[in-house]
Amino acid sequence: MDFRFTHEQQMWRDTLDRFMDNEVGREYTREKEGAREFPEEAYRKVAEQGWLGILVSEEDGGLELDPVMYAIFVEAISKFSLDFTACFITSMFTLQNIASNGTPEQKAKYIPGFLAGDRRFSVSISEPEAGSDAAAVRTKAVRDGDEWVINGNKIWCSGAHHPNTTIVLLARTGDDRYGGLTTILVPNDTPGIDMKKMPTIVRKSLGTTEYFLTDVRVPVSNTLGEVGQGWKIIGSHLQLERLGLAASYVGNARSALDDTIRYTKDRKQFGKPLSSFQVLKHRMAQNEAELSAARLLVYEAATKLARGENALKEVSMAKMLAADVAFNIAFNGMQALGGYAQLPEYDMERYFREAKHGMVGGGTQEIQRSIIAKEMGL
Ligand SMILES: Cc1cc2nc3c(=O)[nH]c(=O)nc-3n(C[C@H](O)[C@H](O)[C@H](O)COP(=O)(O)OP(=O)(O)OC[C@H]3O[C@@H](n4cnc5c(N)ncnc54)[C@H](O)[C@@H]3O)c2cc1C
Repeated sequence: MDFRFTHEQQMWRDTLDRFMDNEVGREYTREKEGAREFPEEAYRKVAEQGWLGILVSEEDGGLELDPVMYAIFVEAISKFSLDFTACFITSMFTLQNIASNGTPEQKAKYIPGFLAGDRRFSVSISEPEAGSDAAAVRTKAVRDGDEWVINGNKIWCSGAHHPNTTIVLLARTGDDRYGGLTTILVPNDTPGIDMKKMPTIVRKSLGTTEYFLTDVRVPVSNTLGEVGQGWKIIGSHLQLERLGLAASYVGNARSALDDTIRYTKDRKQFGKPLSSFQVLKHRMAQNEAELSAARLLVYEAATKLARGENALKEVSMAKMLAADVAFNIAFNGMQALGGYAQLPEYDMERYFREAKHGMVGGGTQEIQRSIIAKEMGL
């Protein structure tokens, strides 16, 4: 077992680190989050590099890199903010549903525009009555000739309000709990959609929305995959989403811990740096060990996915542990920075808010534990 990156992987990581420091920057990310603005300039730069197509096949115009390279990308771009990362990966992992299950016409329509940075995607599973119990979806799509007529209420759909965004909507097309679910591509400007941005304490740049669908009509050719395959498509979607989220928590937690270390070395009280007090030192040492463990789990899960193996358990373990660790690190950082932690310019309050969301978004900690337990035969 070799725990080091290959030469190619290390070069990829170094390139991304330089990009984040030189082309994005901590202040830019902080300002965009504070202003609830999408990091449009950075998104364009990533698109110009061709990096939106990391997971897209060469045949479809992408780079066709594997999930390990994807995890490296996500870990690296998460150094300043998880919200910033979500602005990229929400479209990236959602587009993969079209790349993997789309018809040739759907791929031709959506992939080139996505790679150019012009088309974006949101995934819409959650509803007021369907949170952790995602299969309880009630939003109904009924066939009328060559069209689906959709009625319902979706909530927490991140990024769905941005121009040129297509929603991968999980809708009920039959009575069977799982077999009655279908994924449908719904452009966000389709008549009958009434959408509002929600005032959340996280995802401020990407934004998250609630919307109502009233007699929304889209062609039946917008069905993604077969009718009744929605649950299966969303299942594989969630593995990629959760791997990305786990990698992002690890990348962001690294910065939170590094900031804590730097601050406690600089700040003196009682004539000594805070870092000389054993209670703080031990907390940081514990966090360092936990972060290393979570990071190894992320790359184990990514490696399994890259080999084409079932990584359901590993992905959930990585997401669960990484979210806990990111939260512990930000929680300890908030204490170590004392009053200064409350100021946005120290970034710790953002790490803290965003790490807390990591324990809920993409499936809660309890749901990850239930998946792991099921995979253990419990
Ligand atoms: C900012 C933000 C962005 C989001 N973006 C998206 C998005 O883009 N697309 C999308 O579809 N969804 C999105 N979500 C929704 C997210 O996936 C859900 O919030 C999450 O799955 C939890 O659902 P819920 O909030 O309804 O909580 P609930 O399901 O009501 O859960 C509440 C609590 O009960 C616990 N619980 C529930 N069931 C069980 C059980 N069986 N055993 C043990 N404990 C249980 C949960 O773990 C949790 O702690 C987003 C959410 C937020 C906050």
